[in-house]
Amino acid sequence: MSRKKQFKAESKRLLDLMINSIYTHKEIFLRELISNASDAIDKLYYQALQNGDHSISRDDLKIELAVNKDDRTITLTDNGIGMSKEELEENLGTIARSGSLAFKENMDAKEQPDDDVDIIGQFGVGFYSAFMVAHKVQVFSRKYNEDAAYCWASDASDGYTIDEVEMPERGTKIVLYLKENTDDENYDEYLESYELERLIKKYSDYIRYPIRMEMEVS
Ligand code: ADP
Ligand code: MG
Repeated sequence: MSRKKQFKAESKRLLDLMINSIYTHKEIFLRELISNASDAIDKLYYQALQNGDHSISRDDLKIELAVNKDDRTITLTDNGIGMSKEELEENLGTIARSGSLAFKENMDAKEQPDDDVDIIGQFGVGFYSAFMVAHKVQVFSRKYNEDAAYCWASDASDGYTIDEVEMPERGTKIVLYLKENTDDENYDEYLESYELERLIKKYSDYIRYPIRMEMEVS
């Protein structure tokens, strides 16, 4: 097991915000993760074109969603460009992105969140929004044209780890370990395929790649 690393100060603040989010818009986490998956596929496609790599066909590019009710996990997989160890560190260990930063700045500017304004809906809040619904997140990734794969894992408060893992295929697999239900919040609903389907239709209808969902037979 690798040594635990701490998030950069800025990222830590955004994370705290996400974890303790009182917003009713937690559901946008799925939009954010699907948009990242779609971006990753775009990047792969572009890179493959540049490389003259004919082994990658547009028809094979896809996003997959699966739930496990026993483990209370949601798994989102894409066969996009993937991330190297360094990229996992850079992209998920720090806030590099405008969307996340704009969100944070807007929050800092407000003394109290204004219920009337859908603040969160205005920005791409990014990867960390996963921590609004998950107490732990794992990101398995294998970069295009590389053999090595890594797992970035974090329970938010306590930093993150990166470990080498085996992955048979290129791409990224994100596992969300859902929080326990509270009196105010029902996270279990994200384990229901009809709810995930509703969220995909509501927020991710524009995505150009197929989004497949594995159904649990019960
Ligand atoms: P943004 O999408 O605005 O750049 P995010 O916080 O959503 O910000 O994501 C941060 C970065 O992490 C992305 O820019 C990308 O480099 C990387 N990333 C996130 N998800 C994936 C993924 N599924 N595949 C490859 N890279 C990803
Ligand atoms: Mg994003």
